[in-house]
Amino acid sequence: MLRVYSGIVDNHDPAYVALAAIICILSSFTAVGLAQRAIGAKGQDRFLWLLAAGVVTGAGVWTTHFTAMLGFLPQAGLHFNPREALVSVGLCLVLTTLGWIVGFANPERARGLLAGVLIGAGLAIAHFFDMTALHGAEIVRIDYGLLAMAVIGGIAITALAGPLLRRFAQATLAWPAGAALALGVLFLHFVASAGIELAPLTGLPARPELKLAGVGGVLVGGSLLLLASALTLVFHHRRLADVTAADGKRLASALEALRGSEAHHRAYIELNSQIQWLSDANGRVLEMGPRWWECVAVSREQSITEGWLNAMHPDDREPVRALWARAVRTGDGSIADVRYRVRFRDGSYRWFRARARPLRDEAGTVLRWYGSLEDINDQVAAEMALRRSEERYRLASEATNDIIWDYDVERDRTTWTGIAGKVLGYPELAQGTTIAWWSDKVHPEDRGALVGMEKPLGRDGQGQNTQEYRFRTVNGDYIWVSSRRVLVPDASGKPVRFVGSMLDITARKQAETELQWAAFHDPLTGLPNRALYAQRLDAALERARGTGEIVGLLVFDLNNFKTLNDTMGHAAGDRLLKEIASRLVAAAPEGVTVARLGGDEFAVISPGLAAEDLRMEVARQRLGPLDQPVAIDGLQIAVSYCAGGAVFPRDAQSAGELLRAADLALYAAKADLPGTIRGFQPQMLQASEARARALANARKALDTDAIVPFYQPKLCLRSGQVTGFEALLRWHDQSGLQPPASIAAAFDDAQLSVEITDRMLDRVLADCVAWREGGLEVGRVALNLSAADLRQRGLAERVLWRLDNAGLPGSVLELEVTESVLISQMGGHVSTLEKLQQAGVTIALDDFGTGYASLTHLQQFKVDVLKIDRSFVELIGSSERRDTAVINAVLEMSRSMGITTVAEGIERREQAEFLHERGCDLGQGYLFSRPIPASRVPDLLEQLEERRWEAALRADQTAG
Ligand code: C2E
Ligand code: CA
Ligand code: CA
Repeated sequence: MLRVYSGIVDNHDPAYVALAAIICILSSFTAVGLAQRAIGAKGQDRFLWLLAAGVVTGAGVWTTHFTAMLGFLPQAGLHFNPREALVSVGLCLVLTTLGWIVGFANPERARGLLAGVLIGAGLAIAHFFDMTALHGAEIVRIDYGLLAMAVIGGIAITALAGPLLRRFAQATLAWPAGAALALGVLFLHFVASAGIELAPLTGLPARPELKLAGVGGVLVGGSLLLLASALTLVFHHRRLADVTAADGKRLASALEALRGSEAHHRAYIELNSQIQWLSDANGRVLEMGPRWWECVAVSREQSITEGWLNAMHPDDREPVRALWARAVRTGDGSIADVRYRVRFRDGSYRWFRARARPLRDEAGTVLRWYGSLEDINDQVAAEMALRRSEERYRLASEATNDIIWDYDVERDRTTWTGIAGKVLGYPELAQGTTIAWWSDKVHPEDRGALVGMEKPLGRDGQGQNTQEYRFRTVNGDYIWVSSRRVLVPDASGKPVRFVGSMLDITARKQAETELQWAAFHDPLTGLPNRALYAQRLDAALERARGTGEIVGLLVFDLNNFKTLNDTMGHAAGDRLLKEIASRLVAAAPEGVTVARLGGDEFAVISPGLAAEDLRMEVARQRLGPLDQPVAIDGLQIAVSYCAGGAVFPRDAQSAGELLRAADLALYAAKADLPGTIRGFQPQMLQASEARARALANARKALDTDAIVPFYQPKLCLRSGQVTGFEALLRWHDQSGLQPPASIAAAFDDAQLSVEITDRMLDRVLADCVAWREGGLEVGRVALNLSAADLRQRGLAERVLWRLDNAGLPGSVLELEVTESVLISQMGGHVSTLEKLQQAGVTIALDDFGTGYASLTHLQQFKVDVLKIDRSFVELIGSSERRDTAVINAVLEMSRSMGITTVAEGIERREQAEFLHERGCDLGQGYLFSRPIPASRVPDLLEQLEERRWEAALRADQTAG
């Protein structure tokens, strides 16, 4: 090594050594760079690159070698044989070029080591040929060891360049390979140079050889030029390659992106419920989306071209085929929109919608068809369900007897179905109608109450309602309808539709009206009944309260109605009632209500009266039509009635009170002559209250068996003898003995009066039996009868049956009746009283002179006794002579008719004397005795026997 070092340092010019080294390094890196290009190139380019690398390597090796030679000392006198030098150059070039080509021509199987060995061999040959080309020097010594080391080492180092190039193909100029090449070249040269010692030759003949220095300059310069241009080429190409590589990279990433988007697209298609398909211009299917294969019961092969039709429901196949054929023929995508059923693997069918669009070129020719299949099974199922329900609804609405309507709020349109046309008859129903049309058909009176169709129902706008109103049909008649509607809101709750029905309820309404009428009217006369009377009266009073007007109420009943019914039959009675009703209604002014309250009881409500109307005139006017007799069965029947009137607000504050007041007035009127009309007076109310109390007392007295007769004697005014007694009712309660006045009203009560009389009769007859058995002579006992007693049938039988029971003759009994009793129902009583008279019972006319009895009545029925009322007796001894004249007249008349006279209420002696003077037969009064209980009668009779003197005295005085 030392030798090599000293060979370089001692035997060489350092400048040339440096130059050689630079050339070597430059050429080595350039060659490797060219070879590097070759690896990236293909085919011919690669070969050319390798060729260039070989040339540069060869030229570089040789120039390095030659330059180093020039710096070799002593060189002066050295000559150069150009022929041998050219061979050297040529061999070097061939071998290095061969090396690169052999090593890297085949990109698949690079043989880097072989390339390096060949290049190294080229290097060695160049070195040794050059040596032989040198002339003018003599080899002094050859160190074969060093030479072998130079050749082997140089080739070995160079051989590394090939593998290193492969290994570092991407590094800049593949620098490890370039370094190995340069090192190999320099090693071989300088180690070999150190192995040969040269000495210049002197005295040699001149030969046509070139001077080394001159040729060397040219060669080195040319070589450097070659290197420079090769290097430029390498770098330029390298830049081009970089640009290309960047393009390639971009391309690669673009491709990558493309692949990505394809994957995305595929995923999208696979996920999509739609099945995509593609067909050629003739309609032959080329591709179907993946879902098709998953679902459908036909294979891939079967599905392509026309096979997809096989997956279809047989019924759908032909129509779809025809449609598709037409779409393909015309190129019209819009007709290729069809629904059909596709058979799935499990054998079920599902509905699909198929659509297609043609893809055309610029000329408009169809290139392909893109299509989609959409699973619409759920949608179709829903549609079918809806259609079925609509069908049901349509059938139902056709079958129904209702008018069915459906109102669209937004469009203001009502659609009519059901029997609308048949019932309403309007031709425009078929086109639908507006709300204005509707409300025009509603009866004007019902329009106000009708809830507007467009208005929401209820507060929340929900629900349904029913209304009844009259609706005009096409022929102008109104029918009653029951209109029912249901609101159909949208999602936000806003009403969008009203659906409803309309039922013709005219017949029902008529029936209702009739029922209503019947509920409020008397079927016989057609007059308002008690219920409607009450409504009308309430309404009249309600209005009167506001206006301050006066309402008159008149009630009346017929006196002889029962008799008429009994004698002429109920048909006659009905006709009388009807006639009365129609006359009253015909005469009634506007607003006046004539009502039948029941039986023969009527009422007349006269609202809106003024103060000046409160005279009996008005009442008489109302009832005026009754003054004319009614012709029934050819007979003129006089209408006999009594009436009572009352007015609001003077007599009563409510409808109930008003009727009561009028009834009281009627009651009072009934005590009067037929045809009497009485107005209400407040005392009637008190009387009525007293009456109610009296009835209660009577009931109590009967129930507690508290009734006892008290007896008041009647005396013969001439002889002073007791001729009989009057039995007067007494009853006792916890507060003591009660007078008959406390139950007086009961004498007018149909039921109570009979019970009282029977009780009194039983007691009186029992007392009579007891007196008789005791041998006591009491004379006739008189019993008071009431009007109610005489109205009852069978009075005579009752009395006679009791007499018979008691084993007493009729001669023990006298019956006192009042004048009014005798007059009011003369016909019936007469026979009753006559029957009693025939049995020995005498009849006394009580309270004579207070009533309306006249002497003509006394001629019709012959009473046995006449009792002059106490009111006349009271006047005796007063200054009013006129009244004693009445007594005189009565006594005169009675004597002429043979009727016994009794004076009641004699309290003073002078009264007794007066009456005795005038010829009155009997006297009764406190003067003789107060009424006493039966137990005291025997004592009384004894006392009166002792006091007979009074009569006698008076008789004497008179006589005297
Ligand atoms: P009347 O039939 O006129 O009876 C006579 C009434 O005059 C009795 O009143 C009697 O007590 C009363 N009286 C008799 N003498 C005098 C007298 O000197 N001065 C005065 N101030 N009064 C005298 P009484 O018992 O209170 O009976 C009242 C009326 O009640 C009777 O009047 C009669 O109409 C009725 N009455 C009494 N008992 C019965 C009865 O059993 N049945 C019926 N239907 N009526 C009866
Ligand atoms: Ca009496
Ligand atoms: Ca009397």
